Amino acid sequence: MLIENVQAVYKRIACAALKSERNPEEIRLIAVTKGVDRDIISEAIEIGLRDFGENRVQSALQKVPELKGSFRKSNVSWHLIGHLQRNKAKVAVELFDVIHSLDSLELAEYIDKQAGRIGKIQRVLIQVKLSHEESKHGIDKESLPDLLKGLTGLGNLHAEGLMTIPPYFNDPEKSRPYFRELRELRDYAEKSGFGLRELSMGMSNDFEVAIEEGATMVRVGTAIFGDRRMEVK
Ligand SMILES: *Cc1c(COP(=O)(O)O)cnc(C)c1O
Repeated sequence: MLIENVQAVYKRIACAALKSERNPEEIRLIAVTKGVDRDIISEAIEIGLRDFGENRVQSALQKVPELKGSFRKSNVSWHLIGHLQRNKAKVAVELFDVIHSLDSLELAEYIDKQAGRIGKIQRVLIQVKLSHEESKHGIDKESLPDLLKGLTGLGNLHAEGLMTIPPYFNDPEKSRPYFRELRELRDYAEKSGFGLRELSMGMSNDFEVAIEEGATMVRVGTAIFGDRRMEVK
């Protein structure tokens, strides 16, 4: 079941990449494991998945350290894809290889300080809010240039790209303008001299569209592990 789902997702990634004349290897599949038990995650690692995303620091704390212990030699990366409160920055820096939800200079300073304390360069993506939904986190696109300038002063943090979560639509085509806008912001930042290669965008129902618009990381939960909203709530 799990292996069939994973193969189906890889196939969808490959089709979307070919359709847009991209190399499928440029696209990293992040398996989103919120609400997924440790033994299923172990199975996913055994199948060959290497990137995992959790949206809450607290639930990651219950599974990541043990999984890291069991798969020490497997080169597994952990991604924080949900909002990060600054009082959790210390634990987040200890647990996660990449933090996708940097959304203020203040948070960046906390992360930088914690990373410095343990001698780590923390990889981060900047979460940009492109819709007007009240509930979504992320910086406004107008604030991106100032944040990027501010980050250049922080030596223990490395910004590698941008992330966004569009509003939910049944029709994935409706997500396309958001994905395109994130890519344009990335291209603009790169032209201004900031190296931001990565674009973390696209989930189970719209990752093909995200790939067509340039996604380098897709965050996929339901298509791999099934619908587990009941367990998350
Ligand atoms: C849950 C979640 C995902 C995965 O969503 P699916 O629709 O289950 O693929 C991706 N990104 C974030 C930020 C999430 O919280």
